[in-house]
Amino acid sequence: MPETLSNPNPEDRAPEKPKDAPPADILPPDQRVGVAVVGLGTLTIDEVLPALAQGKQSRLAALVSSDTDKALEAARKYGLSEKNVYSYEEFDRIADDSSVDAVYIVLPNSMHADYTVRAAKAGKHVLCEKPMANTPEECETMIAACKAANVKLMIAYRCQFEAHHLEVRRMVQQREFGAVKLIEATNGQNMGDPTQWRLKRKLAGGGALPDVGLYCLNTVRFALAEEPLEVIARTYSTPNDPRFLEVEESVAWQMRFPSGAIANCLTSYGHFEARRTRFFAENAWFGMDPAFAYNGLRIQLGRALEVGQVVEERRMTEQNQFALEFDHFANCVLNDLEPFTTGEEGLQDVKIMAAIYRSALEGRSVALPEITQRDAFRGTKPSGMTQ
Ligand code: NAD
Repeated sequence: MPETLSNPNPEDRAPEKPKDAPPADILPPDQRVGVAVVGLGTLTIDEVLPALAQGKQSRLAALVSSDTDKALEAARKYGLSEKNVYSYEEFDRIADDSSVDAVYIVLPNSMHADYTVRAAKAGKHVLCEKPMANTPEECETMIAACKAANVKLMIAYRCQFEAHHLEVRRMVQQREFGAVKLIEATNGQNMGDPTQWRLKRKLAGGGALPDVGLYCLNTVRFALAEEPLEVIARTYSTPNDPRFLEVEESVAWQMRFPSGAIANCLTSYGHFEARRTRFFAENAWFGMDPAFAYNGLRIQLGRALEVGQVVEERRMTEQNQFALEFDHFANCVLNDLEPFTTGEEGLQDVKIMAAIYRSALEGRSVALPEITQRDAFRGTKPSGMTQ
């Protein structure tokens, strides 16, 4: 007989333990990984700091910013001592701050490499925002610096820890509806202020592709667990639009994978926000819309009935994607595990993006090295990943 029937209130005979004892995976603050957050922009203020406050295994240990007032205000809000607020010039002093175990780099893309190398030299583990860097060479330098210092390096691909993305990957990997033949992925938005760093080549490394298009590339690779053999691409920028004097507006590219699957991806800085994926399998299509938002993600599934077809929705329990990502990172630091989204994973995306730009520039398809190993660049699977 099920236990709930024989004893309707299992709490009545629960073993003696304090009512407020945290679940096993919630660590007391002094055992958590202390994270110094570098860069106090939109992502840090709106998402990162609230998520760190929800973390189970990590905690905010320091803030690094050029804006002291803003940093002190954030420090007060999140209960951080003023002595743990640093300017960029003071960054290297974190080597002597024993409360800092790791550095999370949330700066413009061109600054990721320098701060990763400096964090590694300071003996701190590194979580680095996407894209990992602007060139494969910078990524290689970052990987080498972290290896030499024997610290972890993880790239902040939050979607790879999120339940809907894990479910789509499971549907693909288990062939729930047969083999996936084709994929569509789109991530675009209409950019405002032409002076922002995202539209400056030196700081951003490119336009829509490394910023939002990267989600299409990374998500398709993640769901298939395969690496593309070939890319073919086209770019376009509206002439005289002040936003696109240095970086591209739109990129359309196609990737061919060893299984035979073909992905068509679109990204733009010039259209109304749209972020979605669709996988076309033998017996169904499925995907997400929205696919890359911070919340409200949904899976849509279209499949055949005996007569006709049905469109269903699958919703997984929503959890803060950043908190999941931080807990995975902290778990890897605490237990000496290779993070799932390694530096090599970030490097692979940067290499593929370089091939996409080359294809568009030269008007031809560009072959990539054949990689047959599945999940070739990923480390320890996150909790919740079955496939
Ligand atoms: P942002 O413009 O809001 O903030 C950038 C921060 O860097 C600011 O604190 C700014 O003062 C500082 N900075 C230092 N030097 C700078 C310079 N020379 N020019 C401009 N800013 C400078 O940017 P953001 O949206 O927070 O993005 C930061 C990083 O996070 C980028 O690499 C971006 O790709 C990544 N990001 C990731 C996600 C995600 O969901 N994983 C979302 C947004 C941004």
